[in-house]
Amino acid sequence: KPRLILVLGDQLTDSLAGLRAADPARDIVVMAEVMAESTAVPHHPQKIALVLTAMRKFARQLTEQGYAVAYSRLDDPETGPSLPTEILRRAAEYSSDQLVVTTPGDWRLLQELEAVPLTVTMLPDDRFICAAEVFTAWAAERKQLRMEWFYRDMRRRTGLLMDGEQPIGGQWNFDPENRKAAKPDMLRPKPLRFTPDADTEAVLDLVETRFASHFGKLRPFHWPTDRTQALQALDHFISHSLPRFGDEQDAMLTDDPFLSHSLLSPCINLGLLSPLEVCQRAEAEYHAGRAPLNAVEGFIRQIIGWREYMRGIWALNGPEYPTWNALQHKAKLPAVYWGGKTKMACMKASVAQTRDLAYAHHIQRLMITGNFALLAGIDPAFVHEWYLAVYIDAFEWVEAPNTIGMSQFACGGQLGSKPYVSSGAYIDRMSDYCGSCAYKVKDRTGPDACPFNLLYWQFLDRHRDRFAKNPRMAQMYRTWDKMAETHRATVLAEAEDLLAALHSGAAI
Ligand code: FAD
Ligand code: SF4
Repeated sequence: KPRLILVLGDQLTDSLAGLRAADPARDIVVMAEVMAESTAVPHHPQKIALVLTAMRKFARQLTEQGYAVAYSRLDDPETGPSLPTEILRRAAEYSSDQLVVTTPGDWRLLQELEAVPLTVTMLPDDRFICAAEVFTAWAAERKQLRMEWFYRDMRRRTGLLMDGEQPIGGQWNFDPENRKAAKPDMLRPKPLRFTPDADTEAVLDLVETRFASHFGKLRPFHWPTDRTQALQALDHFISHSLPRFGDEQDAMLTDDPFLSHSLLSPCINLGLLSPLEVCQRAEAEYHAGRAPLNAVEGFIRQIIGWREYMRGIWALNGPEYPTWNALQHKAKLPAVYWGGKTKMACMKASVAQTRDLAYAHHIQRLMITGNFALLAGIDPAFVHEWYLAVYIDAFEWVEAPNTIGMSQFACGGQLGSKPYVSSGAYIDRMSDYCGSCAYKVKDRTGPDACPFNLLYWQFLDRHRDRFAKNPRMAQMYRTWDKMAETHRATVLAEAEDLLAALHSGAAI
């Protein structure tokens, strides 16, 4: 009897564990575009279009390589509504009673697939450099799961930027050099963008008719959708933007959404590029003298450090992780996240960019939309759903630890002892948003006071019990306590008014 080999939309790698286990002469590769996966959260139209296009192209490639592929299209009336129903339909069609799955990066789907009434073999997804069990063992030995220690182990394991046992350049981390502000620059290289081919156009038409109600613009669509294009995007980034990557890593500019970022996360997350090959290409640029160490180290750290670490955290924490809520935040996500009116230039720019491009870079996600949600006391489960829906690269295994863990402190400090919150001063230092804002970033109270200023101090005040004894935050509490009592009372009252207005649906 043939076995069904399931390949999911983010498993588009020809060396995938499930495909390695397949016997092309006997087994059937099952790929399915099902409504349930596109609507589990209201995914951005560009993200749905990317996944479906890349799946179709990958299925064709597998067929050319000699696999028998049973591919179900979204617009085929025979296609079932969910993956389990579609798998059972294929099992009946091919008289199969065995399903081989490469472990998905989404707990809901993992549980649904485990429950399919066939003999299910779940293979580890070894596209990650660090296996989930290795991460769990690493975590079990430690009180604090500091990314920096994990990252150093990963440098040793991969040999990237190593000189024997020592890091090249004598330092593991060049972060302090990577916090510069940026200026608009007409000559800054732009990322490579692709004109949609016939496959992409067909999917864009489909998405346009089926998902018109989802937040986000579908066109223009410029993402790479197959391995050839992904490699071209990688080449382009490596030779044009990598040298500036470090310096501009944390900067934000209203009219330059990409700066020197790579835009490679969707390619890596879908499996069109391997994390190691991307890092090795960057490392080679350093050795060839074409990119500085702070840029190359910073870039490699994001991938073998943060990316692998986030995957380990997701696997470690289990299916309930997206509901964690250490700070007991309860508010709903305000309309501004779905494009509602706001006077805040930073939020307006970050959300508009997200709507138009399905992309925002890390500091916009962390220090603008994430920072604001945390300060405004939004329930992290809603924040999680939003990030999972709106970004082109969002899959639960990487989005949840970034949102629940890093951004919303909903894990109570598992990822770091200090929450990522800031007042307007940080945003002003790292961006050009404040210059065009209706609020005044220097105002701490009054009608024009920057909302980040009011909410920052109110957040510290309302979570005093949890954070005041934290040595990394003690200085902020000393500063707050030194302010005049009348000033503190005004800050708290104005912050309350602002939150009441926000949560009543007013445009702040
Ligand atoms: P670059 O700045 O060019 O970085 C290079 C690569 O490093 C990225 O392509 C990515 O593969 C990796 N990387 C960088 N930072 C991280 C990180 N914190 N975690 C994991 N990988 C990282 N990333 C996702 O891939 N999917 C998500 O759903 C996602 N959700 C996020 C939600 C929040 C609240 C925050 C704060 C961050 C999130 N990130 C997510 C991490 C990061 O913002 C994106 O990986 C990055 O912006 C992708 O753009 P880029 O490819 O241009 O990245
Ligand atoms: Fe954002 Fe405040 Fe600056 Fe306005 S003043 S852009 S709200 S940080």
